[in-house]
Amino acid sequence: MLLFLLACAPTPVEEPSPQPRAVREKPLENVVVVVIDTLREDRALSAQTPHIDGLATGGVRARRAWSAGTWTLPAVISLFSGASIRQHGWDLPTGRIGKYPLVPDVPLLAEVLHNEGFRTDGLYSNGLLAEELGFHRGFDVWRRVSDKTMAAQFSAVVGKQWTPGGRHFAYLHFLGPHSALKPSEGARDRHDLDGPIWEGTRGLEIGAAKRNESGAREAYNAGYVAVIEDTDARVGEVLAALGDYREDTLVIVTSDHGELLGEHDVYGHGYWVYEPLTHVPLVVSEPVELPPVVSTAAIPQLVTDQLGIDHVWPTQLEETTVVSQREGKIALTLDGTKKGVWDSSGKGEQGVFDLVADPGEKNALAHGELDEARGIWESVIPRAEPLTEVVELSEETQQELKTLGYIE
Ligand SMILES: [Zn+2]
Repeated sequence: MLLFLLACAPTPVEEPSPQPRAVREKPLENVVVVVIDTLREDRALSAQTPHIDGLATGGVRARRAWSAGTWTLPAVISLFSGASIRQHGWDLPTGRIGKYPLVPDVPLLAEVLHNEGFRTDGLYSNGLLAEELGFHRGFDVWRRVSDKTMAAQFSAVVGKQWTPGGRHFAYLHFLGPHSALKPSEGARDRHDLDGPIWEGTRGLEIGAAKRNESGAREAYNAGYVAVIEDTDARVGEVLAALGDYREDTLVIVTSDHGELLGEHDVYGHGYWVYEPLTHVPLVVSEPVELPPVVSTAAIPQLVTDQLGIDHVWPTQLEETTVVSQREGKIALTLDGTKKGVWDSSGKGEQGVFDLVADPGEKNALAHGELDEARGIWESVIPRAEPLTEVVELSEETQQELKTLGYIE
C-alpha cells in the first residue's frame, strides 16, 4: 500500500545494476548476519577493510543504508522485527537506567527461521542485548562473547552445531568501534597511535573526546578507524570459519547506528538523527538489487526472500520512504538526496537538508514536499501501542550501560 501511495515520489537516479552472476548452483541454505556496532559508512569506506570489500565485490553494497534508529536497543529491535521504531514502539532514551520495556511481542527473524527448522545461534559482545530484555527470543543459544573471541566461538558453533543438509542462522554482534576504543598493537602501529592516551587497559573512552582533553579528539578519530580495521580482520576470520558452508551461506554485514566524531561539535550517538548516525554500511554477499536508500529494518525481508521462505515483514526491501527515528525525532528520505527532520523536542536542527549540496546538514530549508511524504508515511504506518511490560535490569546490565558510556 505504501509503495502504491508513494508512487509519485521522485524517480531515483539510475545506477548500474550489480554485475550479473551465473545462476547459483546450490540454493542458499544458511545466513550469517554480522552487525558491527557504531559503524558509520563513510569511515567504513575510507578504512582498509579488505574482507568486507571482498563480500561486496561478489555481492552488493547499498548506496545508502539507514539504520532505523541511532542507538543499539531500538535499532536492533528493528533489525530483528523488520518494524520501524514507530511500529514497534521501543523509542526510549539511553540514560533511563534501570528499567526498560521488553522487546515488543512481534515476530522476530530468529523466531521465524527457527520455526522453519533453522538452527539459530546468536553471539553478541554488546551486553545491552540482554536475555532479560528478550533479545534471545528465537535463538537456540544466545551467548555473550567478546570481539576477540567472536570468530573462534563462531567456528565452534559451525563445527559442533552446523550439519550438512541442515539450515542455520547465526547473528554475530561485534562492539567494533563503540567506545571505549582498544585498537590492536598492529593497528596502533599503522596509525601512529602512541602516547599515554592509549596506555592502560580501559581503552580511549568517548568521554575524553567529548571533553577534548589533551588532543583526545584527534586520537579518537584515528583510533575509530584503527578499530574498524581490526574488526574487518575478525569478519575475515568469521568468513573463513564457514569453510565449505561458505558457498551456500548468505552473509550480511551492517551496523546498528553510526557515531558523531566532531560533526556539529558533538561526539557519540545521542538524541540526533544526523547522517553520521543514520548512514551505516549494508553489504550483502549476493548480487541482490537494492533500492537507492534502504532501511536496516528491511533486512529480515531480504533474508527470508533470499532463503526462499515465505514471510511478510512490516518493512519491504523496495520501500520508497525510509525513516530513522530517535526519541520521537523523525528523519525521512525518499531517494537519499534530501532529508527531512522533524524534532518536537527542540534538540537539534529541523527542516529539509540537501544531502548533495549540504552533506554536513548545516542549512535547514523549509520542509515543503517532504511534509507530504511524512503525512502519507504516518497515515499508512500504524503507531505501536505503548509498551507496558517493563523489566528491571540486573546490576550487571546496568554496569554495562555505564561502561559503554550511556551513563556518565
Ligand atoms: Zn549500538
